Amino acid sequence: MDFLTRLKDGPVLVADGAMGTMLQAAGLPVGTPGEAWVLERPEVVADVHRAYVEAGADLILTCTFGGTRARLSHAGLADRVAEVNRRAVEIAREAAADRAYVAGDIGPLGELLVPLGKRTYEEAVALFAEQAAGLAEAGVDLLYIETMSSLDEVRAAVEGARRVAPDLPLTVTLSFDAKGRTNMGVRPEQAAQVLAELRVDGFGANCGASLEMTEEAVCRMREAAPGVPLIVKPNAGLPRMVEDEVLYDGTPEVMAEYARRFVDLGARVVGGCCGSTPAHIEAIARAVR
Ligand SMILES: [Zn+2]
Repeated sequence: MDFLTRLKDGPVLVADGAMGTMLQAAGLPVGTPGEAWVLERPEVVADVHRAYVEAGADLILTCTFGGTRARLSHAGLADRVAEVNRRAVEIAREAAADRAYVAGDIGPLGELLVPLGKRTYEEAVALFAEQAAGLAEAGVDLLYIETMSSLDEVRAAVEGARRVAPDLPLTVTLSFDAKGRTNMGVRPEQAAQVLAELRVDGFGANCGASLEMTEEAVCRMREAAPGVPLIVKPNAGLPRMVEDEVLYDGTPEVMAEYARRFVDLGARVVGGCCGSTPAHIEAIARAVR
């Protein structure tokens, strides 16, 4: 079944959990992007993907959250944008085998757009287009824009993706924080309106603050744009520092309970973000099937 048919009419899709915090647990130094290990330690990235597929994920995200030139340049990888994105798709596709869809993950640039920052809208479109081209050429099932907080950047990412891959399914999730807005002040209902106008294939919330806040955001998105497939991929509860480690307080059982509620609210894709592990995804898969 192609991804769009499954998204609209098939059983609910279980997405994977965190990549970044899993790689850190495997020794990726804090501050080093996961994309570096796509090139240097592909077997570790593949292990994380495989663990999620084994846990029941129907959809896995490539390890390319920071795969734009804007972010890769911080890691000295500015001239390897196409290679990083292509390799990441190959690794994910092999791990997915025929058991999971592969989403080409696109995260924010990590920069503010004009007038708040220096990056022009047109440059942002080109940066997203460059990454999306690498992902699309390597054969992803969809492009998955995530953790967005600015609607201008969302527009730029959607435009960039469509410029190079007009026929690929495209989804967008934003990250809502403790006040129920993104850190750029966007409310869920505003985001839903814009995304419905952009006619993306699905949208929703990822990362973000608490599970309760995510639920609230999803309710508002549904009210603003009923009928659009919703995607919910929250963090495993709230992060807290214990000694030098960041721990998340959401157990697999709590995440699974919320996943069921998200599905009742219209979620067609449920998974986890920071702090979630294969154990969380396994519990979610059991709960929603
Ligand atoms: Zn996250």
